[in-house]
Amino acid sequence: MRTVYIKTYGCQMNEYDSSRLADLLRESHGLLRVPKPDGADVLLINSCSIREKASEKLFSDLGRLHEWKRLRPEVLIGVGGCVASQEGEDIQRRAPYVDLVFGPQTLHEVPALLHAAQRRQAAIDLRFLEIEKFDNLPMPRAEGPRAFLSIMEGCSKYCSFCVVPYTRGNEFSRPFDDVLAEAAVLAGQGVREITLLGQNVNAYQGRRHDGRMADLAELLEYLSCLEGIGRLRFTTSHPLAFGDRLIDAFAHLDKLVGHLHLPVQSGSNDVLERMKRGHTVEEYKAKIARLRLARRDISISTDFIVGFPGETADDFDATMALIDEMRFDLSYSFAYSARPGTPAAALADDVPADVKERRLARLQAVNLTHARHISEAMIGTVQRILIDREAPRGRGDLSGRTENNRVVNFPAAGRTGLVGRFAAVRILEARPNSLRGELLDLEEPSRLRIDYTVTERYS
Ligand code: SF4
Repeated sequence: MRTVYIKTYGCQMNEYDSSRLADLLRESHGLLRVPKPDGADVLLINSCSIREKASEKLFSDLGRLHEWKRLRPEVLIGVGGCVASQEGEDIQRRAPYVDLVFGPQTLHEVPALLHAAQRRQAAIDLRFLEIEKFDNLPMPRAEGPRAFLSIMEGCSKYCSFCVVPYTRGNEFSRPFDDVLAEAAVLAGQGVREITLLGQNVNAYQGRRHDGRMADLAELLEYLSCLEGIGRLRFTTSHPLAFGDRLIDAFAHLDKLVGHLHLPVQSGSNDVLERMKRGHTVEEYKAKIARLRLARRDISISTDFIVGFPGETADDFDATMALIDEMRFDLSYSFAYSARPGTPAAALADDVPADVKERRLARLQAVNLTHARHISEAMIGTVQRILIDREAPRGRGDLSGRTENNRVVNFPAAGRTGLVGRFAAVRILEARPNSLRGELLDLEEPSRLRIDYTVTERYS
């Protein structure tokens, strides 16, 4: 069988795109996705431009893939994703052995681009086609009990440091019914937990079959009634579009996990203004306070950028004070570096590299301490987990995830067929990257029945 290797960089949306691309190429070209480039007939890179020096990394990766093509000239090499969107035709100018180039919105054109490349014709398509991409992808193939589902793309917030609006375009949402249909297919394939994806997922506005627009709160309400689905997550959110309806969803939707990733980026209003985030620290804190009223034990993770242009010692102290006050769980943080083409790239990058490093180390140490304390506080509690695989280090243990996304490993005592079941486990021990527990009880799958009262309202 002919094979394709896809290297994916970046966020869960890119992972989702790569897996949908693999589904598409299996249908169109009979290509089987393989985990290594050795011997593959098609080599693709799904790039990401969020991290520093993204294009340099891309070209050094391409150099390595070129070695395979030197051995087998019939191999085709393609580049997709956000760096492809930014660099465009320059990719083939700098690396003429690249056969096809596609953007995040033209994944569905890859089969046609492959045909063109095989005939030695131009194979580049970087249009922003919005919803057309989803209309032309096959239904997904589930690879376990957890799955991603992309419900919107792009972003219209234009934070001054971020490339997403330029590489993925403005926000657009998939139609409501299409999302429900894809979720139903996933549920039918054994998926029990769905994570809804979007760069700015809480800005979702999907058109329903009756022409009315539905927001994320309504989508979650319908998805939570879907037979087989026992758990819902969504990421990534922006504080601005986080309205009361969505906050209330945490109060009344049992299947919506008590965990939320809500980036704040800085604890200083001056920095937030230069970042063009559109909200203040106080507004952010007010959202969290409302969320904690709706779901008392909700765990919040966030993102920080340290050393943004003009960040003073006082600004950084304000960030540390916010961390102490909010006690975030498992936060992600980076030292600032300019992304070409963004408004912030025109600002003087005036925080010295060693200061950025020191601040980042301090911030990460405190965040790790908070995350560890949260894990330790879970010892002795009973958690609902979705069992999703065998534990990596064997011994017949199984592994699952809690609502706050922690991995729990537990002995299965030789029991089989438990992957995909929800279970109650008691937490016995907190380790640096996982928890250890004991199995107490298994939920009956019949608990995941459809709620007809809501579907009747919808039909
Ligand atoms: S909201 Fe997120 S994706 Fe949108 S511009 Fe800001 S950082 Fe980028």
